[in-house]
Amino acid sequence: MPSEHAPWGATWYADTMVDAPQRAALAGDVDVDVCVIGAGLAGLTTARELARRGWSVAVLEAQRVAWNASGRNAGLVAPGFAERLETVVERVGLRRAKELWALSSAGVDYVRTTIRETEMPGVEQTHGWLTVRRTDDEEAVLRLVAMLRVDFGVNAEACPTEEVREVLRTQVYYQAVHMPEAFHVHALNYALGLAAAAASAGARIYEETPAVALDVLGVRKRVDTPNGRVRADHIVLAGGPHLGAVFPPIAATVVPVASYIATTVPLGERLATAVTYPGAVSDTRRAGDFYRVIGGDRLMWGGRITTRIATPRWLPRLLRRDIGRVYPQLADVEIDHAWAGTMSYAVHRMPQIGQLAPGVWLAGAFGGHGLNTTAMAGDLIARAIIERDDRWRLFSAYELVWTGGRMGPAAAQVVYWSMQLRDGIEERLSRRREAARRRPPATVEPAVGMAEPALGAMRIEPAAAQPIAGAPEPVEPTHAWDFAGTPATPHARSNERDGSHEEHARRALEAAAQAAQSMAQEFAQARTDGAWSRPAEPEALLAATPADEAPDDAAPVKMGEFAPQLIGADESVAIEEKPMAPAKVAAGPRWFRRRRTEA
Ligand SMILES: Cc1cc2nc3c(=O)[nH]c(=O)nc-3n(C[C@H](O)[C@H](O)[C@H](O)COP(=O)(O)OP(=O)(O)OC[C@H]3O[C@@H](n4cnc5c(N)ncnc54)[C@H](O)[C@@H]3O)c2cc1C
Repeated sequence: MPSEHAPWGATWYADTMVDAPQRAALAGDVDVDVCVIGAGLAGLTTARELARRGWSVAVLEAQRVAWNASGRNAGLVAPGFAERLETVVERVGLRRAKELWALSSAGVDYVRTTIRETEMPGVEQTHGWLTVRRTDDEEAVLRLVAMLRVDFGVNAEACPTEEVREVLRTQVYYQAVHMPEAFHVHALNYALGLAAAAASAGARIYEETPAVALDVLGVRKRVDTPNGRVRADHIVLAGGPHLGAVFPPIAATVVPVASYIATTVPLGERLATAVTYPGAVSDTRRAGDFYRVIGGDRLMWGGRITTRIATPRWLPRLLRRDIGRVYPQLADVEIDHAWAGTMSYAVHRMPQIGQLAPGVWLAGAFGGHGLNTTAMAGDLIARAIIERDDRWRLFSAYELVWTGGRMGPAAAQVVYWSMQLRDGIEERLSRRREAARRRPPATVEPAVGMAEPALGAMRIEPAAAQPIAGAPEPVEPTHAWDFAGTPATPHARSNERDGSHEEHARRALEAAAQAAQSMAQEFAQARTDGAWSRPAEPEALLAATPADEAPDDAAPVKMGEFAPQLIGADESVAIEEKPMAPAKVAAGPRWFRRRRTEA
């Protein structure tokens, strides 16, 4: 039976955690060089790096170290960001994207080195990451792998469908990208080990000490807590999605998003009927499944995102159903832990790293890709404070963007649902095509026929690549029909009918997805136009970005420091949630006007 370890919850991590000494709450006043708010991975890395360089640091944690996302995540440590690499290149240009990627890789190295240097207990580091496709598109995989290898110097390889299905025994997956050097860890033990390393470097960590008010204006800044105050030259805001109340302008630029994880009971030899790959697995959908083997023979399974921040009571059942959809052979497994974690996303899905005002730093919005990026952010900010290293400015293309106030999460949820639907349709089409290919030639319909994949022949073999472990075992061909949902004896007419239904459904869903996306864009546009309540527009915070910092071949993006429209040098402006004036409603987003007109 799982036990509840407040505040880490009834997680498998909490049941297998190393010792986590209770750290005293702040009582009285302290004077330090830097006050870090939040003892998640971002705050702890920053604190450790500052303390290692001899600076005095106080870390304030509202609850216990790593109780939220940092101690509840899936534990994959891999280069990159929550945003897709292709989108990053599109936005900031190839040269700048390479620099960002290098920083994200340095974050991976940081985690690896820290585990080794501190001889961190209980982290169970295991290598390998497969990103699998649920739709058949070998060209997309080859293109991505070529870009990763040639442009970004990544040890990545393209895996053909057959190879993927040898180690992940399901017909749901097609090709994959394999990164043998990524790894996964026991997330909570890594965070607790990091806290121990920060403390032994000299950082003072105060648990159950929420920062309740900030005065960031003077040279010496003040942070109030219920029973004490910290005075510091610098403040680092690393509170993740819970920073909200203490610094509302930042809360207005992120959407808190929950994601979920479950673990099975030990499965013994049964596990190998489904998964023999020892590394982490995720699929390429926007909010796809992610999973890995833990403790030798259990499955840790994660997925689903929602902007409704509450743990559904039926979570174990939902996640078991997700497992069964990919691996019918595990459809009845017993789930012994299931939990939620909350992360924050910016509109652009990239981290928010930078200086808001002199001496006020922000490290947030790491989304679902935070193990490497929090390490990167902590290191960058510590170096910026101490060494005036200004590489954090590489993130200045990703400014603070208002997320739509109370409507933001709803819009994000709609976009997510529409993407989910679109992914579902595309997968179904892909499986039908595959089923058609497997039929005897006489019954194959030309309209849905496809060339045989040539990925196996074109496979890229990096010199240092490790083979995907696991003994090959043939997959039962009958599973293809199970998944394809197609009768074993196809009839041209029924296929035609299905095909046109599919087509109609696909078009309808694409329209829905577009509508949802344009709705989100309209929120952003409305904000720019002033149609919605938004903060005052004080002067630009800091000097303009030097010309040589402009992105080279970038799409037009706003350069400069963080969000001058949100926070002024001499005032901290809270976003007012004003009701919209009638005139503003009339000028509001098109979808909103349309609804009013229709009504
Ligand atoms: C289910 C799930 C799976 C994930 N899987 C992965 C994965 O496999 N790989 C990966 O790279 N990323 C993953 N992530 C993302 C990753 O966990 C997060 O991006 C990362 O942990 C964020 O760290 P953080 O320090 O910014 O925030 P948090 O972990 O939220 O920590 C912030 C801390 O600040 C404290 N705080 C907030 N406000 C205050 C205040 N006013 N005063 C004092 N303290 C305050 C909070 O109590 C909290 O402890 C996952 C996330 C989830 C939810």
